[in-house]
Amino acid sequence: MSRFLWGSNKRYNDFSGHFRRKFNGRVQKISIDAGFSCPNRDGLKGTGGCSYCNNRTFSPEYCNLEKSVTSQLKEGIDFFSGKYKTMKYLAYFQSYSNTYAPLENLKALYEEALSHPEVVGLVIATRPDCVDAEILDYLQTLAEDYYVMVEFGVESHKNESLDRMNRGHHFEESVWALTETARRNIHNCAHLILGLPGETEADWLDQANVISQLPVENLKLHQLQIHKGTRMYQEYLQREADFNMFTVDEYLDLTVKYLELLNPGIIVERFVSEAPDALLVAPRWGLKNFEFTARLEKLLEKRDTWQGRLFR
Ligand code: SF4
Repeated sequence: MSRFLWGSNKRYNDFSGHFRRKFNGRVQKISIDAGFSCPNRDGLKGTGGCSYCNNRTFSPEYCNLEKSVTSQLKEGIDFFSGKYKTMKYLAYFQSYSNTYAPLENLKALYEEALSHPEVVGLVIATRPDCVDAEILDYLQTLAEDYYVMVEFGVESHKNESLDRMNRGHHFEESVWALTETARRNIHNCAHLILGLPGETEADWLDQANVISQLPVENLKLHQLQIHKGTRMYQEYLQREADFNMFTVDEYLDLTVKYLELLNPGIIVERFVSEAPDALLVAPRWGLKNFEFTARLEKLLEKRDTWQGRLFR
């Protein structure tokens, strides 16, 4: 008998447990770089991109613009299938804004991925202002037969912060995108950064309350990181005092408080981001994702608390 309403004894509603229960086994995302651009880089919304973005931080080795979707999937699946014979796969359109193309092109790419016999669905990372009703209506039809998740870069619930990091959209667009995906039975995920300059602990805890009231199914949190080759790095060099980079203990404390306020129905996929060592300026914790999560679980236990304990 599980202790918590999400069906496990973990003290938060964890994504991997949710996926194992949903698919009755292991599921692995295979990252694909399908050569998309981003309207915040090509001039439609802005140039230069978000101040923290260096897109090289999130493409694994097997992603390569010169390779087709099929060959990237094959390489990724070959890599994992040796370890786990019964694994299922999701094609993860990860780099840049993966709905930023005419619908016909999107259909060709997504359907190429879904034609792979071992792929059971899609995860599509994009900006909230890069989806419209036409794209979502199409994804709704795919979602009738496959697992389809759209992952939105929400980043902050405060428009001043979104402006400061040059996101080129506001929180209202995120609310629209999350609501419209949920309404169409498309799985959604909100990606948020904790620690942005100009924000305080009161803002992050307020964010947990705000997100909890929205139809958010999955959440990815991560600590602010400064990466080389970004405009935020220049800002950091010039005004380091504006940046309160978390220590591991500070961030653990914050994530526990955030989880306590968070709607227990929201599935949490991750708490930290791990940039390649060569690109990471700060904070340099030297901790893997699973090591952070293990510490978090210990702290939840020590404080005898859990996700949603203070949710109203
Ligand atoms: S973070 Fe996303 S939206 Fe911002 S510049 Fe990078 S790819 Fe574009």
